[in-house]
Amino acid sequence: MKRIFIFLILTFIGIASYAIPYKHIKTAVYCRAYEVEKMIQPGWLESVWDTLSHQVHIDKVYLETHRDLLIVDDVTLEYAKKFFQDRGVKVAGGITYTVNEGNNFQTFCYANSEDRKKVQEIAEHTARHFDEFILDDFFFTSCKCNLCIEAKGDQSWTDYRLELMRKAAVELVINPAKTVNPDVEIVIKYPNWYEHFQGLGFNLETEPPLFDGLYTGTETRDRSGNQHLQQYLGYTVIRYYENLKPGGNRGGWVDTGGLRFMDRFAEQLWITLFAKAREITLFDIRQMDWPIRDELRADWKGIFNFDEMMNPIKIGEGESFVPTKMSRAAGYSFELVDNLLGYLGNPVAVKSYKPFHSVGEDFLQNYIGMIGIPIEIVPEFPVDEPVVLLTETASFDPDIVAKIKAQLNRGYDVVVTSGFFKAMQGRGIESIVELRVTDRKANVKNFIVGFGQPSASQSEMLIPQINYFTNDSWEIISALDDTNGWPILHSADYSKGRFFVWTIPDNFVDLYQLPAPVLNRLRKAIAGNLNVNIEGPGEVSLFVYDNNTFVLQSFLDEEVTVHVLLDEKISEITDVDQCEKIDGKLRRTYAFRNRTSDNDVMVYEVKVKPHSFRGFRF
Ligand SMILES: [Zn+2]
Repeated sequence: MKRIFIFLILTFIGIASYAIPYKHIKTAVYCRAYEVEKMIQPGWLESVWDTLSHQVHIDKVYLETHRDLLIVDDVTLEYAKKFFQDRGVKVAGGITYTVNEGNNFQTFCYANSEDRKKVQEIAEHTARHFDEFILDDFFFTSCKCNLCIEAKGDQSWTDYRLELMRKAAVELVINPAKTVNPDVEIVIKYPNWYEHFQGLGFNLETEPPLFDGLYTGTETRDRSGNQHLQQYLGYTVIRYYENLKPGGNRGGWVDTGGLRFMDRFAEQLWITLFAKAREITLFDIRQMDWPIRDELRADWKGIFNFDEMMNPIKIGEGESFVPTKMSRAAGYSFELVDNLLGYLGNPVAVKSYKPFHSVGEDFLQNYIGMIGIPIEIVPEFPVDEPVVLLTETASFDPDIVAKIKAQLNRGYDVVVTSGFFKAMQGRGIESIVELRVTDRKANVKNFIVGFGQPSASQSEMLIPQINYFTNDSWEIISALDDTNGWPILHSADYSKGRFFVWTIPDNFVDLYQLPAPVLNRLRKAIAGNLNVNIEGPGEVSLFVYDNNTFVLQSFLDEEVTVHVLLDEKISEITDVDQCEKIDGKLRRTYAFRNRTSDNDVMVYEVKVKPHSFRGFRF
């Protein structure tokens, strides 16, 4: 991989030199109130900034004014602002509306007049110092004190909190801040747990138009953790928030939490950027100053080369700087991906509709992205997409059956999950196809696609048993249960379109171990309309763009071979980093009685290293 290490001597701040700007990445570092408070101490900020900016280029800093009832005073804020502005670094403010992070991230009580006053004072204080500020993750409420219980009355917590926080945004933050500083822009950062927002009062329906911008938490950390965050979430969530406020999603935000190996940190940054984040924020200046720990070295050899990262950085004549901090992992990760980002157009993906304040088959879209189906979440049912994917969460739309029928009547396809179908039973879905997703389970390991050869997963998985009327609808992919078989992908005709029911394993992660022929057929049914498709195992994600470029990202621990399928007229693809060209092989479609069911395709064999990406153009 070609990388250029050039470091600029910024003579106006002495002889020290700093990482130069990236060509296609705008970077920011967030500073918590705890660290901002220290910035006035003699020498503290100079030392931290000097170490940081040798190892990663930073365009902007967010200076937090409040967290856990710690309010940074005027003198310190102005000192810190000037420090960064003097160095050509943009500044913005930040607020974390927590009372005590140590106590389950205790939030303010928005039914309590003292708390409300405090929330407003913090917004006003911040607006006095900054023309832009961001609300970090916690502009929600988890309070269930007696005041809240009384104020809630007969409403659900969700309904109560959604309206409570919409009003709090206007009355306590936006209006007071803009009264103090009419030029101030206020950005709300939404975290990664979008599926559950409504229960805590994050209002994705009414808040995006109220705020000047949104920001996206793309920290996915360790997927085994209690947040169930699959790596691909970093992409879906940026695209989802962008679709909530087109043009208004200002960036993605990654921290170092849950790291078991260093490549995981790099992957989070890369995926944020593959979603075309306009800016990427590193959380935070304290974490970036943590030492690099050797136990984060992975067993495999991907494109993230631990030793290369640790190489001394040249900082001028005969001088070098030995990187020791987490900021170098960020800088190195950016250098690895910057060139590729220059080639990528606008992301293209299968649309999955999620009505506002809905929940169901929690976070399933991210698991689907992990099996090579490019996917993005949209808050309205799209009317001009050849395929729409609906998970259980879409069952919250009372008009969903009519919307599905209209899509099918346009001659397009709808793919629904077994969870969606089950939630819709008795609600009119039977007017499209009469099948039943039962409460019975099958424990399966073997699968068959059409009339092909059976293939097996590594271990057994539990799936719901679906019953249907023979000859009314058809199995496209089946699970074989020794003495019995069950639909995995089921198809029914309706009007001018096709309606598919996709059986999702009880444990979503089992999608990753479906054998390649099953995954290939699923990809074709759901994402076959995109101009790039892949064949191969799970845990390889595909990112597609509107300018004949695409990226493959593997999350596997060993090298993987993937087949990339493109139009038959495209005879070669080029790896944009390695400048390597790969020739395609034409695959003729299967013909039966002089009829073909499909198009011929050009197939390219591509190897991807563990936990690595490759970007191509054609
Ligand atoms: Zn309360």
